[in-house]
Amino acid sequence: MHCARGDQLATYRRPQRPLAFRGGKSAILGYVNRPASSLRGLWPFLKPYRGAIALGTACLVAGIAAELFPPLVWGYIVDRVIARHNLSGLVGPSAVMAGVYLVGSILSAVRTNVVERAGQGFVFDLRNAAYRKLQSQSLAYFAQHRTGDLMARVAGDIDTLQDVVIRGTDSVIANALRLLGVAGIFIALQPKLGLICLIPIVVLAFALRIFNRRVKNVYRASRARLGDIGAKLQDNLSGVRVIKAFAREEDEQDAFEGVTRRYRDAQVEAVNLRSRFFPAARYIAQWGQILMLGFGAYFIMLGQFTVGGLVTYRGYGRYFFGPIDDLMDINDLLQRASAAWARVEQLLEAPISVTDAPDAVALKRPEGRVEFRDVGFAYGDGAEILHGISFTATPGKMVALVGPSGAGKSTVLNLVPRFYDVTSGAVLVDGHDVRHIRQSSLRSAMALVQQDTFLFNDTVLENIRYGRPNATEEEVEAAAAMANAHDFIAEMPEGYETMVGERGVRLSGGQRQRISIARAFLANPSILLLDEATSAVEPESEWIIQAALDRLMAGRATIVVSHRLSMVRGADEILVLDGGQVVERGPHASLMALGGLYARMVELQNG
Ligand code: ATP
Repeated sequence: MHCARGDQLATYRRPQRPLAFRGGKSAILGYVNRPASSLRGLWPFLKPYRGAIALGTACLVAGIAAELFPPLVWGYIVDRVIARHNLSGLVGPSAVMAGVYLVGSILSAVRTNVVERAGQGFVFDLRNAAYRKLQSQSLAYFAQHRTGDLMARVAGDIDTLQDVVIRGTDSVIANALRLLGVAGIFIALQPKLGLICLIPIVVLAFALRIFNRRVKNVYRASRARLGDIGAKLQDNLSGVRVIKAFAREEDEQDAFEGVTRRYRDAQVEAVNLRSRFFPAARYIAQWGQILMLGFGAYFIMLGQFTVGGLVTYRGYGRYFFGPIDDLMDINDLLQRASAAWARVEQLLEAPISVTDAPDAVALKRPEGRVEFRDVGFAYGDGAEILHGISFTATPGKMVALVGPSGAGKSTVLNLVPRFYDVTSGAVLVDGHDVRHIRQSSLRSAMALVQQDTFLFNDTVLENIRYGRPNATEEEVEAAAAMANAHDFIAEMPEGYETMVGERGVRLSGGQRQRISIARAFLANPSILLLDEATSAVEPESEWIIQAALDRLMAGRATIVVSHRLSMVRGADEILVLDGGQVVERGPHASLMALGGLYARMVELQNG
């Protein structure tokens, strides 16, 4: 059976003591710590790249030291060279500046390369962990979540996180260091003036806290609305035939516009918040320059500062006020990332309802004996759907499940591969409770042929080979022949290399069905589960499929669900389900003699 290998599925766990993005105590940097606190869970994914991050940070620190040096040279030239008309004194400082700029450029090149590569690796790991987690989820999880929303989480939300790691962490460290470095130099040059210049930044830090509190919820809502768009799109594209058949394009367009409008509104709300806050924040920061100029001139006139000193201050202006702008942008990026991460983290941390027990065994040579012992079942917290179901299917024996729609027939089938766990009683395969068999081994022992055959957008050959990936072409052809599929495949222009289209749209229902039977032949399972396997096809191709199925069933334990009672006539045991209970059981002849529900259903079908 095509299933995820449970033993290969590493489970993501939240770290006990997150190490990254820890909040510092600096008032200036306080605001960048707020959103980052919820980004702590990213650390397990960043950890493998800590060497690269450390190297990048080292280059950054050295690069910033190099960057901060030239304005000191400017001050030196004004006060010591120009003021003293010392022409030869120009050479040394100029050469130093040229050297410092060169080293800065080299450090920047190394840092960009190292950090960006680490960022790409981080996203690669995170996306694959998310996919692995999705693969390990039970069907109950997918019944509760919208496919398009899950796709948006694995694609768009993770992309947003990529921005933070590549641009964000680097930029936060760089700008914070610049800001702290310049603040230190300011205070060293003229303590009073330095402290005065810091006042607007402290005000800004408090303003940013308030902004973050408000924008966080807006960004969360916006990411959720983006997920809604993905879900709606996925739903509508999969159901495009129904939309067209019922001429509901206009209604669906309106519904889609409703979803996108809600996304737009969330985005506009964020724009409104940003467009009010950012100019105000910039204006607060600009007060630093006003204070610098006014108090700088004042201290020069008092003889407590030099003109060269003020020129140096001015030279540092862009390293001081530039980072404030950048940090505000990065703060915004962190807020978006925090909203995106909340969604990815939810996916990664979702509990898995069907897992391998620690003592789970592998079925070495599955015999194929299926036993239901007094099974009760409910979907999630819902009402019980199945009550006290007991039966046994042994190799070569066919058990059929019939009954009215909604009686629980498909649910019984879903319990055999452990798509869901029973609520009471037990399902056993070869005498082992399925909860104590490794899922990969359990599902390899069986094949499921359904009414709605799923084919991948690949060649016929690869679709059949999905049943056993290492099968040779000859084996695939032999399986196709057994499934009465070889002739129609051979007649196609590209034979086994024909692409089947998305979900196999280029094939007829009967052809798709035979390919899925060929898949099952190739898998050579001990247990065969047939769920309305002939219901979707024309009566004339039904007998071809029926003949293929008869061949497939030989020697295997088969459980069949069918509305077409002619298909189950030859079953060794027919269970008649009604309201989740077995109301009649036995072979066709004795059920007919009983004259109950089964006999009435047969009469109805024979018309
Ligand atoms: P049909 O012959 O129409 O296919 P069935 O006998 O196979 O019906 P099931 O599909 O097993 O019936 O469904 C049995 C009951 O379980 C139904 O009432 C159905 O609504 C409910 N059900 C099926 N799947 C789910 C699910 N994933 N979550 C909740 N309830 C479900």
